[in-house]
Amino acid sequence: MEVTGQSKAPPTEDVVVFSILNPSTCSECRAELSKGDFLRMEKEKPLCLDCADLGHLVYLPRGDTALTRRSRKYSALSAVVVRFSRSRRRYERQGVLVEPAALDRAEKECLSDEERRRAARARAALDRERADMQYVAQFAEQIRSRYPGCPPREAGEIARHACEKYSGRVGRSARAKLFDAPAIELAVQAHVRHRHTEYDRLLAQGCDRSEARAAVARPVAKVMERWSKA
Ligand SMILES: [Zn+2]
Repeated sequence: MEVTGQSKAPPTEDVVVFSILNPSTCSECRAELSKGDFLRMEKEKPLCLDCADLGHLVYLPRGDTALTRRSRKYSALSAVVVRFSRSRRRYERQGVLVEPAALDRAEKECLSDEERRRAARARAALDRERADMQYVAQFAEQIRSRYPGCPPREAGEIARHACEKYSGRVGRSARAKLFDAPAIELAVQAHVRHRHTEYDRLLAQGCDRSEARAAVARPVAKVMERWSKA
């Protein structure tokens, strides 16, 4: 009589199959095995996979850990393939032999995992993009409330530029500082300097940055004063 819990076979060691270096012959069917063929030793007798009743298994080379782990999990019978390394003087694992259905199932699972990860990445990117767009709109609104004379298109441009600078680099709280009055003023000032004065041309001519800023300070202030009125 079987005792519950002990009817299952005890955990056994892996079935080992050799990827051979030297030609051999199956002791049962006399099939010739050449270098690279798989061979199973049974009671010191070499057997081809068919005679060892492992012929229905498929070979999965090592390399994909998750796939290997899952394939073995779903395979009622599996074997480990080893080959002797002459240089390192030891047997090294080459891969596993598993049931084709197990490999199929494992492959499907690994694939859907990858798809799930890809979808999650795409969702996260979209969320970030949405948050950024909302942020840009809010920032543009802030600009327009402080500088009602600033053309809406330019307010949008300034906001996009300011937000791009911080996009994905700093957290929400740090970005909130962008909404500070000085930060808005600086962003508008930089835009006016580049867009409405000779600043860039002066820089291109090799003019020192602080000199160039001083040279355009008045025109910049004029534009900003004009924009601050509706
Ligand atoms: Zn055989």
